[in-house]
Amino acid sequence: MASSLCLSSFLLFVLSFVISLSSADVLHGNEEAEAVKNDLYREYLREEAISRLNELGRVSDVDGYLERTFMSPASIEAGNIIRQWMEDAGLRTWVDHMGNVHGRVDGMDPSSAALLMGSHYDTVVDAGKFDGALGIVSAISALKALKVNGKLDKLRRPVEVIAFSDEEGVRFQTTFLGSAAIAGRLPTSTLNISDKSGRSLQDVLKENSVDATAENLVQLKYEPESVWGYVEVHIEQGPVLESAGLPLGVVKGIAGQTRLKVTVSGSQGHAGTVPMSMRRDPMAAAAELIVLLETLCKHPQDFLSYDDQCSTIESLFGSLVCTVGEISLWPSASNVIPGQAGYISLCFFLPLSTIRKLSHQVTFTIDLRAIDDADREAVLYELSNRMYSICDKRSVSCVIERKHDAKAVNCDTELSMQLKSAALLAFKKMAGNVEVEVPKLMSGAGHDAMAMAHLTKIGILFVRCRAGISHSPAEHVLDDDVWAAGLAVLAFLENQIWS
Ligand SMILES: [Zn+2]
Repeated sequence: MASSLCLSSFLLFVLSFVISLSSADVLHGNEEAEAVKNDLYREYLREEAISRLNELGRVSDVDGYLERTFMSPASIEAGNIIRQWMEDAGLRTWVDHMGNVHGRVDGMDPSSAALLMGSHYDTVVDAGKFDGALGIVSAISALKALKVNGKLDKLRRPVEVIAFSDEEGVRFQTTFLGSAAIAGRLPTSTLNISDKSGRSLQDVLKENSVDATAENLVQLKYEPESVWGYVEVHIEQGPVLESAGLPLGVVKGIAGQTRLKVTVSGSQGHAGTVPMSMRRDPMAAAAELIVLLETLCKHPQDFLSYDDQCSTIESLFGSLVCTVGEISLWPSASNVIPGQAGYISLCFFLPLSTIRKLSHQVTFTIDLRAIDDADREAVLYELSNRMYSICDKRSVSCVIERKHDAKAVNCDTELSMQLKSAALLAFKKMAGNVEVEVPKLMSGAGHDAMAMAHLTKIGILFVRCRAGISHSPAEHVLDDDVWAAGLAVLAFLENQIWS
């Protein structure tokens, strides 16, 4: 059976993969195929997992689209459902003081350091149903398969699934409430932050009968020696796996990020009367700066030199991404060159908010991410120098402010190797004895793993999503890719069985 699907070329593999997935009957021809079929746990890892993802996708605070924010009624309902699934998989369950839902099995040695797995069950506004949920469902489904085959209690270390209460940060505008609490990275002052209605985090927890004191918050932290590692399955939220034609990939690390705010000021004027040669147009300057950013980030090798300080070029390829997501200008009228200095004289008669607008003629943001922190700094240095020189040349003034920095997080080599082997095994179980390389990817988005990396080593498995679309109702994962993810988690867990 397997040899009949054994194809040498990658393209033929992809084709055979699709064929074998869409027609599992190919696998069912004889006894050997029957054994393989049983090994695939289709009932739990595919059918039940998909139905659970659909069920969770319907638990929303609003009609017509998916929205589930921290401690909302839908969030409480979703937590209860997840807890039932955990119990169904043979796990001991509880909900902690931050709304995280835990399900744990002790295995053969309850005192040894635990493997933690999970993702988040909150969503953005008008969300897709796979972001976060897939990581929770695939972990529970794989543990259920172990329960069914009698291996659940033979795990060599405790395994705990955690469904984190908040990763997206929609309600309180602060991400990782759930995982940061477990990792001991949530300051107790967080209890005082407020949502749009003015209710504090502490109030919201109390409304849900949670005694949210600073002491209880501190106690949520896991001791590093009690944890062996953290593994997260997540949709890729990008198009790389789809373009590679493969359902799973292993993540090398989560990119570090810098956010800049750039303000360009020039001379405001009449669009019809100021000659082109006499203009100091901040909008045209901003356009040039944005094109510079794009060019530099597409072709860093043309801008950065190879030397000891800058070993950077290789790791920048495929990892450096730069975005201008927000731009505003004053006064924003079709017949006005923005940014007239003389207009400031009117400021004495204007409210402070308007004066601020006037002194910020063209403002835009830059979001810059790379897998290596030193590389990111090298790019920022080069970018700033070139931007200032463009502004000088155009006789406009530029201010570049650094608003936010987050360091890159590397995934653990050992965990990544195990996830890679598990993904390969999943490919082979589903598509035959194929020769294929499991893709290695960078994550440009932060995940709960980013917070958990402060506590323990991390590994992340990415799952292909259609057209790379996420944070949208168009977010979609193929049924067979859900299955592949579950099989990979199962294979990873079977490596943790006492033999
Ligand atoms: Zn997510």
